[in-house]
Parts: sequence; C-alpha cells; structure tokens
Amino acid sequence: MKSPYLITKEEVLKIYKPINPHAHKGTQGHAVIIAGSYGKVGAAVLASKSCLKSGCGLVTTFIPKCGYQILQISIPEVMTVTDENTNFITNIHLPLIPQAIGVGPGLGKELGTQKALFEFLRINKAPLVLDADALNIISENLSWLELVPEDTILTPHPKELERLIGKWNSESEKFQKTIAFSEKYKVIVVMKGAPTFIINRNSVYENTTGNAALATAGSGDTLTGILTSLLAQGYEPKYASKFGVYLHGLTADLALPKTGYESFTASTIIKYLGKAFLSLV
Ligand code: AMP
Ligand code: MG
Repeated sequence: MKSPYLITKEEVLKIYKPINPHAHKGTQGHAVIIAGSYGKVGAAVLASKSCLKSGCGLVTTFIPKCGYQILQISIPEVMTVTDENTNFITNIHLPLIPQAIGVGPGLGKELGTQKALFEFLRINKAPLVLDADALNIISENLSWLELVPEDTILTPHPKELERLIGKWNSESEKFQKTIAFSEKYKVIVVMKGAPTFIINRNSVYENTTGNAALATAGSGDTLTGILTSLLAQGYEPKYASKFGVYLHGLTADLALPKTGYESFTASTIIKYLGKAFLSLV
C-alpha cells in the first residue's frame, strides 16, 4: 500500500468553494435524506440538520409516517415526504430529482425496507452516500452495489466495514481488502475511525482532524448529512469525501475546549459547523 495522503487544511482550501454572492436556494443544491424508523427518527433529524447546515439550499427528508411531526417541529426548514407505512420505510417515492441523496441512518433492516432500498437503488441516478443500515442491508446483498452510481460514498464504521469486506487479520489486510472492494465496486469508502481514512481505489487519504469527543451516538449520522450536502452543492465525490470528513472532525476540535469530551454530543457537531466553515478562511 502507498503511504496515505494527509487531508490537511491546505488541501481542503483547494477544494472549498465559498458561496457565490448571486446564489439563491435553487443554485445551492437540493439534497434528500432517506432515514429513520420507529425509535430512530433522531438519526434522520441529525442527518437532515447537518445537511442543511453544510450549505445546500434545500433539504427534503424521506421518513416513515411516525417521523413526520418530529421532523417538521425539529427542523422547520426541511421538507418532509413520508412513506405509506408508519414505523419503517417500505416504498421510496420522491416527488423531485435531487442533486444528491444520503441513505441509511436509523433505517432499520425490516424486510420491507430491504425491498424498498433495492427498488430505490435500481432507479436512482443521483450521487449517493450510503451509511449505517443501508450498508448493513447491502452487506448481505453485495451485488446491489453494481446498481449504484460510480463514486458512491460509503461511510462504514469498523463493524459495518467488517460486514462489507469480511474479517481482517491485520491492519494492512484491512486496507488491502478495502482497496480491492473500492476497485471492484467503483465506490469511495470512508473508513470511519480514529483517524478516518478514505479509500478511493488504490489511493488512501488520512484525515487530520477529529478527536475522541466524536465517539458519541449520532456522530456518523451528521457525517452523512454533511457529505450529502456537499455532493448536492456540486462537489465531486472524491472532493466531497475529503472535505466532509475534515469538517466533521474540525467541529470536534473547535468545540472540545468549550464542551470537554463528556458533554460533547452529535448536536454539538451541528452547532459547530458554522465555526468550522469560518475557520477555513
Ligand atoms: P458512527 O459510529 O457511525 O456514529 O460514526 C462515528 C464517527 O465519529 C466517525 O466519523 C468516526 O470517525 C468518529 N470517531 C469516533 N471515535 C473517534 C475517535 N476516538 N477519534 C476521532 N474520531 C472518532
Ligand atoms: Mg453510524
């Protein structure tokens, strides 16, 4: 394996495109988040909020019926479209063609959701982020990855990665297997951890931001929102993945002196997104 390239502030500044003064919400990208099930609607809230707070113009969230009021009250800026089913997603129908879609946080693995995910992957053409239960479902049906757009971003934590690529006996084997996986399915794998690595075919990138405060419930859901937002704004997946993981980690670095590790939550990540963007320029 080649030694990893570091994702530094200098690198990210080459990627970051500050907002055009003539922008309006229609030019900033419309993102869709497909997430949530009974008891896990919070995951949809966290992903949607972080998506909206990372610069895209419009966010629509697709959730089961039980999430409708929760979403509308928690995030008035987000539009919601509901499944016909109350507790989990069974049929993904979007009344729009978005610029990017993030799927997975809190989705659950009900059979109906698995079928809905397959049908969605069969017809979707929009740039995609796959996380959490979307990955867990796909890891039992790896051929579905042949349906996803090239350069789809996958964001597994270590357990999710193991389900996708199988067990590894050493760190170097983990990287070899992930590189082979990225090459086979033509996807970008964000190997979440401490630190996070991005595997894009045989190129490996190592993030330089983030700390153990991020080891908290819902942390990954916010990363899905950030990445989907960047894709919706037109960042190419290879750049969105680096920029997104850097920003996500940076929120924790900026917040830590104020919150300490203990009181840092996924909502803190969302709260510090603005400071993270501001600290770039
Ligand atoms: P998830 O397990 O899906 O909630 O994702 C957790 C997120 O927090 C990932 O982006 C991890 O890289 C990040 N994270 C968790 N623990 C640490 C740590 N000790 N240091 C840095 N980042 C971490
Ligand atoms: Mg997660």
